[in-house]
Amino acid sequence: MRVDESLSARQGNLFIVSGPSGAGKGTLVRALLARVPDLWLSVSSTTRAPRPGEEEGIHYFFLSRKEFDRKVESGGFLEWAEVHSNRYGTSRDVVERKIDQGRQVVLEIDPQGAQQVKERMPQSVLIFVNAPDLSELRKRLFGRGSETEEQIEARMARAIEEMELAGLYDFVITNDDVVRATDELVGIIDSYADKAPGA
Ligand code: 5GP
Repeated sequence: MRVDESLSARQGNLFIVSGPSGAGKGTLVRALLARVPDLWLSVSSTTRAPRPGEEEGIHYFFLSRKEFDRKVESGGFLEWAEVHSNRYGTSRDVVERKIDQGRQVVLEIDPQGAQQVKERMPQSVLIFVNAPDLSELRKRLFGRGSETEEQIEARMARAIEEMELAGLYDFVITNDDVVRATDELVGIIDSYADKAPGA
């Protein structure tokens, strides 16, 4: 009997780690990759300037606004969003290729982008990382003393809106303790190790 290759080739899963900025999703994803090294983390494109120590193609692909917008127009992004006046996007072709190759793919993106991916690829797994609680977040923002009361209220309003999106997610992790939260994240990814997307 001839084995149909298209049936035997198994696609990888797409995991989207998202949540309000300040919830610590970057730290969690780094800890996740150290524990599950065969995951493939997508490198986003951004219009923001590199921070000290950030390298082209490793942390981000740094694009001019013109280059970014050209890629938007040509449909090169699976999703994109404006976050704090800069644009960020996930390249469509490389993510689709990795999934087709059977890799487990991780995106670390903001909630607007996460919603776009879930709409386009409903089989993707949405994981929402939440800050411990709102009063803690407000306390931290005031404690920093670097923002006006108006800016703090704007950030709080955005965090509340983003937390309300948690209901759309497949999993919600509260980042109250990095080690515990990483264990939870690893457990979720492991539970998909033998599962085809959408199964
Ligand atoms: P930062 O400038 O601190 O590296 O990232 C700012 C925010 O942009 C973070 O919340 C991060 O998750 C989000 N982000 C990074 N890459 C992407 C992306 O490709 N798409 C979207 N929608 N958000 C992204």
